Amino acid sequence: MPANKKLLILPGDGIGPEVMHQVERVIEWFDKRRIATFDVTEDLVGGAAYDAHGTPLHNDTMRRALEADAVLFGAVGGPKWESLPFGLRPERGLLRLRKEMDLFANLRPAMVFDALIGASTLRPEVIRGLDIMIVRELTGGVYFGEPRGIETLPDGTRRGVNTQVYTTPEIVRVARVAFELARKRHGKVHSVEKANVMESGELWREEVQKLRDAEYPDIELHHMYADNCAMQLVRNPKQFDVIVTDNLFGDLLSDCAAMLTGSLGMLPSASLGAADSSGRRRALYEPVHGSAPDIAGQNKANPLACLLSFAMMLRYSFDMGQEASLVENAVKRALDAGVRTADLVQGGTKTVSCSEMGDAILKELDRLA
Ligand code: NAD
Repeated sequence: MPANKKLLILPGDGIGPEVMHQVERVIEWFDKRRIATFDVTEDLVGGAAYDAHGTPLHNDTMRRALEADAVLFGAVGGPKWESLPFGLRPERGLLRLRKEMDLFANLRPAMVFDALIGASTLRPEVIRGLDIMIVRELTGGVYFGEPRGIETLPDGTRRGVNTQVYTTPEIVRVARVAFELARKRHGKVHSVEKANVMESGELWREEVQKLRDAEYPDIELHHMYADNCAMQLVRNPKQFDVIVTDNLFGDLLSDCAAMLTGSLGMLPSASLGAADSSGRRRALYEPVHGSAPDIAGQNKANPLACLLSFAMMLRYSFDMGQEASLVENAVKRALDAGVRTADLVQGGTKTVSCSEMGDAILKELDRLA
């Protein structure tokens, strides 16, 4: 059995604790079956941390996150904390984690489960079997570039400025993540920018090509303009394997790709930092959805995005690809059997609660193990 893994669980607010509880049941199942054991620490983040400590992320929690092999995050936020000053809002807890863990690569898979093909707005033949990984640069680019701000001009009109800026190391480290992923997938990377109209895009293209030629000659690399990529994602998404792009384009394209798959309750994500000398990377895994205050506390939430984030953690932080596939197959089989939370319900299927979805996953795990 693999050695213990240090895992920090931060359920957060709203539906965060409900969906995370289903993951904890799966962790217990792994432990009981002696497949893997985790050293689990649980802590507060977001509004829950503010209520307890007056801050959305206590320094002790930050320290635990830096010491952990992986952080599993639920969701934060809700109406109760919306009128707090900006620096104390629940979302600041997540932003601090991302910043201090230096999580520069955001991985968003877009995968279509056959049983949910009807939930997409696209035709079944366009999305059947879809499996894309979008790698978005997360800590640079126009969201962070200086100068930035709004100034009043001498004539009384105003001017808003943001700066798109990337350096060679920033481009190379995220491109490397994409090439490494492609090696474990189907060996193809699309690098996306606007090199036709932006110098930062020109640099991006040159650096990605240089890295590929020097270290990843086995990977098929294509360069694509971001506007074309948006069109291609909707026209023929199956041409993609791994897409790597900057912070701004990645923000838009990952949401576009996510919607190919139908439901927010199904979308996992990972954010990775640099590897240290032992190969260990800081990493945070979280569902894409928020805290869903409209259904919080009602046992209605879909826990699958959180469970699939846990599967990503197994694969990318602990190199447990087989165990990750086990969880993903359990999800697939539960969906094939018609088990649906309210957000996924289609004609002829029965609605189950969050905990009943957890029951169904455990049952499938028992069958598969
Ligand atoms: P949301 O993702 O919380 O909810 C959007 C809609 O999707 C809601 O109708 C909700 O019921 C539904 N939904 C979301 N997840 C679901 C699930 N697992 N199962 C079933 N239905 C689900 O987005 P929002 O309403 O814009 O934001 C609510 C709060 O969450 C806000 O405070 C926002 O700031 C916060 N938020 C947090 C994160 C995060 O923690 N990473 C991300 C987005 C939003």
